[in-house]
Amino acid sequence: MSDTFQAIVDVDASEAASEELAARVLDWLWAEGIVSREKSDNVLGADAGYGPGDRLAAWVPEGDDESFRGRWTNGLEVSTSAGVYVAPGEDEVGECPRGHRQPLPEEWGEIMAAWLDNPDAAVVICTTCEAEYPLAEWHLAPLLAVGNLAFTFWNWPPLGDRMVAEVRRLLAPHRIELIAGKL
Ligand SMILES: [Zn+2]
Repeated sequence: MSDTFQAIVDVDASEAASEELAARVLDWLWAEGIVSREKSDNVLGADAGYGPGDRLAAWVPEGDDESFRGRWTNGLEVSTSAGVYVAPGEDEVGECPRGHRQPLPEEWGEIMAAWLDNPDAAVVICTTCEAEYPLAEWHLAPLLAVGNLAFTFWNWPPLGDRMVAEVRRLLAPHRIELIAGKL
């Protein structure tokens, strides 16, 4: 069976602030019973993650589904360092900070890799503005997002709109993107 993921990415968090912001969101997820407090071996991108909680169905409509709860890989992975999140198969288009929608340059994979080394060095030129903007200022969802803070839910049913809205509120005024895909 293939694995799916939904990543809520804070695209504005600095690396220095990401731990504190992660703790703020985790406190809420724990308080609402959305994820467990203990970590276990249940995610693909890290050693351990937080499993589904007792009361998550209040926020994730299909959260009590047995085929999800019974899976080995069904945890939340929290990343507080620079990461790129890509949904394979989505159209390779993005919007510049001024809202011009366009195909991404062919070398967008390399630009993403450059962002991991040095965010300031990763820029994309808008074909309409004819100006370059930092990669992080582009709106690239649902294809991809880059950020220093992300919450990746492995094999979870669709996260409810209310839940995503609450995470957005907790991280405001930062922008968040939801990147969902299948490996
Ligand atoms: Zn533009």
